[in-house]
Amino acid sequence: MKSEIVEGLESVVGADWVVTDVDQMRDYLADETPEPVRPKSSSEVVVVKPNTTGQISKILEFANEESLPLIPRGAGTGLCGAAVPTEPGVILSLERLDEILEVDENNFTVTCEAGVTLEQLLDELKEHESLFFPPHPGDEGAQVGGLVVENAGGVRAVKYGVLRDFVRGMRVVLPTGEVLKLGGKVVKNNTGLDLMQLMIGSEGILGIVTEVTLRLYPRPKQGVSLLVPFEDRHSAVGTVPKILQRGVIPLAIEYMERDLVERSCEHIGESWPAEEGEAYLFVIVTGNTEDNVYSQCETIDEVCKDQGADRMLFADRRRDRDKLLDIRSNIYTALEPDSADILDVTVPPSRTGELMDEVDRVAEEFDVYIPAYGHVGDGNLHPHIMKENDEAPPATEEIKEKIYQIAIDLGGVITGEHGIGKTRVKNLPQILVGKHVDLMRGIKKIFDPNGIINPGTVVDSDES
Ligand SMILES: Cc1cc2nc3c(=O)[nH]c(=O)nc-3n(C[C@H](O)[C@H](O)[C@H](O)COP(=O)(O)OP(=O)(O)OC[C@H]3O[C@@H](n4cnc5c(N)ncnc54)[C@H](O)[C@@H]3O)c2cc1C
Repeated sequence: MKSEIVEGLESVVGADWVVTDVDQMRDYLADETPEPVRPKSSSEVVVVKPNTTGQISKILEFANEESLPLIPRGAGTGLCGAAVPTEPGVILSLERLDEILEVDENNFTVTCEAGVTLEQLLDELKEHESLFFPPHPGDEGAQVGGLVVENAGGVRAVKYGVLRDFVRGMRVVLPTGEVLKLGGKVVKNNTGLDLMQLMIGSEGILGIVTEVTLRLYPRPKQGVSLLVPFEDRHSAVGTVPKILQRGVIPLAIEYMERDLVERSCEHIGESWPAEEGEAYLFVIVTGNTEDNVYSQCETIDEVCKDQGADRMLFADRRRDRDKLLDIRSNIYTALEPDSADILDVTVPPSRTGELMDEVDRVAEEFDVYIPAYGHVGDGNLHPHIMKENDEAPPATEEIKEKIYQIAIDLGGVITGEHGIGKTRVKNLPQILVGKHVDLMRGIKKIFDPNGIINPGTVVDSDES
């Protein structure tokens, strides 16, 4: 990296917060994208660690003047290579913006800097017993800014929605250095075009989020976990709309199959509590009183029995609930080392069973192992394309395209959680074409006229 660039950055944050040594920046060159599909990082980069919005504004002004690519960096837990610097440039790490600024119990909001991690936020809220931040994407190391720009989901979306449903306000530094304050603590806001909604899910291509105000809920006082064994997939998946139609909206409804829970159990040294069944619904029910929670459980039990599942297991002790959640969460960690890629295709919830059957057909066609599990309450499935002999199957890209096309044909989308990032830019034309993409490129150009921020992410630059 040229010395003028390093000096320019040092003049803003001080020499201690500019990293030029490759050994010290290794952790910033990759994210959690499976290695076989992860984009190759440039090593001609410099990492800068500002700690105020003002410093970020100056860095962006400087990068814009120099036409220097700049990649915002959260915690690097993304799964599509969005935070990987593929071109020489500056990695701007948000890690020092790590303060929780205000918990407002009367307005049910928390305001924090973008580098606060989900774990930090949840810990802070333990001090405020009545307040609850429902979203729980699987890696608590993720930063609030990263969660917002990825519009992260997770297991609790079925009851409370995704990150988009929680953002009330934010502060953003534009690629040209100006600072925008969007939204606030207000519940209703119809003041012109909603740029805040545009920033949510923008994957760091429109600006840098430096501060976020998130909506909170009252904390439910009671919770119970249920494990319902079914003999087959379609009985399990077909039960989900029937539960919802009875007016019970669980905190989470997850689907998993026996081979995967056994693999997860082996991975973490646990035992699977259900002897029966090949397909399982894992349901978490919450409410304010025991009576309310038990009545929801009774309804779920009735519906499941109607569907032929009469061995519902009930976990109300914290230890048993944590064990079930742990097994579910560790399906990912058990599969991850052998995964060539991890997908997050999403279809209208009633079509999840068809999606799973079609994924199995693709696995058969290519003779590869593609285990799938997921958030069946909201139609979001995680098929893992597994390695063979420690290598990605040669047809990985073709397999991915086929699965994406199946999701699209079922009325769904190629990604419901992890975004387009860099690994899926080539797949975007499968679902978005023509004017839609032109508009996206045009919006990017208005925000970022010199195309400096996170190049190669979400959309290619305009080739016309
Ligand atoms: C074990 C595991 C489980 C996961 N479970 C889920 C899940 O259940 N649901 C789900 O949706 N995702 C899940 N993820 C994916 C990941 O955690 C989310 O995408 C998360 O939102 C990424 O946040 P981050 O801080 O790590 O962002 P990074 O990976 O650092 O960055 C992601 C993108 O956001 C940009 N960015 C980061 N911070 C900012 C900022 N402040 N301003 C502007 N741009 C920024 C980066 O440039 C990049 O483009 C999981 C990942 C792992 C490893």
